[in-house]
Amino acid sequence: MLIEQLTGQVTSHLTELGKQVLIHRDVISEFKSLQKAAKKAGFNLQIASGFRSFERQQVIWDNKYSGKTPILDSNEQKLDFFALSELDKLFAILHWSALPGASRHHWGTDFDIYDPNLLPMNQNLALTVSEYAENGYFHELNQWLSENIELFGFYRPYQNFLGGVAVEPWHISYAAIATQALQQLEISLIYDLIVKNNVLGKSLICEQLPMIYKQFICNINQPYNGK
Ligand SMILES: [Zn+2]
Repeated sequence: MLIEQLTGQVTSHLTELGKQVLIHRDVISEFKSLQKAAKKAGFNLQIASGFRSFERQQVIWDNKYSGKTPILDSNEQKLDFFALSELDKLFAILHWSALPGASRHHWGTDFDIYDPNLLPMNQNLALTVSEYAENGYFHELNQWLSENIELFGFYRPYQNFLGGVAVEPWHISYAAIATQALQQLEISLIYDLIVKNNVLGKSLICEQLPMIYKQFICNINQPYNGK
């Protein structure tokens, strides 16, 4: 991938799936096959979030960093913005949100998936672990995904908590292309973008970037873990 494709600045590697979702052009047929298999099993597998641009990720980031949107702890409870040290704030945001330029959603290989037919009436999708857990309405879908995504080349980079990003059962990734993308995503690329775009907290981010890169960007579950 080109640097601009890796970091969410262009959409030239993407193609449209439906009206609003963009995904990597080399992933679309595998995703459609997965969707078809899911349909046979009785699920309406849809993407809640596919490609996200650098710009969009920066809005999400800046809103959290400035306190416009709440920052949550690891139990999804709101933290007291003014009581947090700058470093604690940085860690808390990174638990749930990627640094602009370093989101796997930039690549078009990674999606947040769900089944709209399983959502209870008048219930918005929340993307919380409880929705996918044993008593949640996506539990059966979740189990089906665990048994089937590998057959289509997908896996879950946030399957288990490894001390960085939170567990995200809804986030799947097309292993072959995403693994290459992560290898190409050098720390210096991210550094330059954070500075150039005046991402909020940029001096602290740049100071902590080696830690962020190791703990939150590269620290993911590997494809076909334990198989
Ligand atoms: Zn995601």
